Amino acid sequence: MTQNTNWKNVEKALAILTGKLTPQQILAMPVDTLARRIEGATLRNELLAVNGIGPETADSILVYALDKPFFIIDNYTRRILHRIGFELPTGYDQLRLLLEQNIPRNITTYQQYHALLVEHAKRYCTKIPQCQHCPLSKCCQKRIK
Ligand code: SF4
Repeated sequence: MTQNTNWKNVEKALAILTGKLTPQQILAMPVDTLARRIEGATLRNELLAVNGIGPETADSILVYALDKPFFIIDNYTRRILHRIGFELPTGYDQLRLLLEQNIPRNITTYQQYHALLVEHAKRYCTKIPQCQHCPLSKCCQKRIK
C-alpha cells in the first residue's frame, strides 16, 4: 500500500519532470539531482492536494520555506513580462515551465528573482507605471494596455 502510494507520487513527479526535460536530459542528470527534483515535484503535488492551496501558494511555500526551486508566477510577474514585450502562455504551469527552462534552476536565483520582480512592480511597474524612472525603460515595449 505504502509502496503503491509512493510510486504514484513518483509517477506524478515524473510527469511534471518530463514536461520540461527531454529523456536525454533526464538520463544525463546525476541521480542525486534527479532525486531532489522528484522530491520537490512530489511535495508540490501534495501541497496542491490541500484544499485552498493553489499553485502560487504551493510554489511560494516550496521556494521560501522548503528551498525547492520552482518559479513563482504572480500577477506582478505577468504584468512586467507582458509590458516588456514577451508573449506569455495563459496557464500558470505553462508560464512557470517556460521561465524554469530559461532561468538557471537554482533556489537562491529563484528566491531573489521573485523578490526583485515584486519590488520592481511596486516601485516602478505599478498599475499606472512610472516608466520615466524605470531602469528597464530603454528595453521595454511598454505594452501598458
Ligand atoms: S518601462 Fe514602464 S512598463 Fe516597462 S517595466 Fe518599466 S515601469 Fe513597467
